Amino acid sequence: MSLLVSAEIPSSRWRRCRWAIAALALGLASLVLPQPLGATVIEPAAAVREPIIGPWAPPPALDEPVSRWQEPAPADVDSLSFPHFTGPEFNELFTTASLPNLSPLSASPTITDSAEMDQQIRTEAVERGYQRRPLPADYARLRLIDDGLTLQRPAAAAWLALEQDAAEHGFELELNSAYRGHRYQRTVFLRPLETPYELEDLAERLKMSAPPGYSKHHTGYAIDIGQAGHAHFGSSPAYEWMSADNFANAKQHGWIPSYPPDGGRQGPVPEPWEFTYVGVEAILCFHQPPVGDDPLCAV
Ligand SMILES: [Zn+2]
Repeated sequence: MSLLVSAEIPSSRWRRCRWAIAALALGLASLVLPQPLGATVIEPAAAVREPIIGPWAPPPALDEPVSRWQEPAPADVDSLSFPHFTGPEFNELFTTASLPNLSPLSASPTITDSAEMDQQIRTEAVERGYQRRPLPADYARLRLIDDGLTLQRPAAAAWLALEQDAAEHGFELELNSAYRGHRYQRTVFLRPLETPYELEDLAERLKMSAPPGYSKHHTGYAIDIGQAGHAHFGSSPAYEWMSADNFANAKQHGWIPSYPPDGGRQGPVPEPWEFTYVGVEAILCFHQPPVGDDPLCAV
């Protein structure tokens, strides 16, 4: 356990120690309680017990309160015209963006209780276009938004800015999901399936959900959102506002669609409710090779 924990948590000795204690406490709690402490999801009926492969839930940010801090953006961002992207370009933009506070990839997390089946699912997932995604390097740098949802600091600020902008246009956005660890994603992936798991069902499930290790939510830079009072975000007025003109109103706050409608081989079927943060500058500079005298896209 210590190897796995140390690969996915902050590097200071104290934090490692604190996390090891917390992970152990949560592990013990999960054995005696019907539901782990702090969990908002329900384990699948016949949950397979596994070693702690990441924090069950990240700790709240301890050092700074959440603020309506804005990312440094060009002063005239409102008047900038953003480049248009194809679906595959949106995906490439997130994968190639240099985002802070991400750890190197750890060993692939457990999916089912069969290593052989897990390997088949991973192969199938990659064929669908899923990619391994990194976890945060330092969980203390995540920001608590609400209801236990946390995001990486720039994404947290950008979410609040997007939420406020949408509100000013009459749309009440809701944050439904943010950072997820491996174990949480595993629960999400397996929850609708019956046990014993069948390869066919697991492969079918890949159309709707990433297996643990492959979710963009692992990074702390992906959000699932909704509009209050609308069951389907993809047909809501807020989505219409966000997606107009190749997602100009999302781009203005550094957000891009995570699984766009024409994304090709990208993992799940398109998910209009999921957005990923890359930052305004990455969006503006994607097509532009860095040049020394360009104040924005300089190296
Ligand atoms: Zn999502």
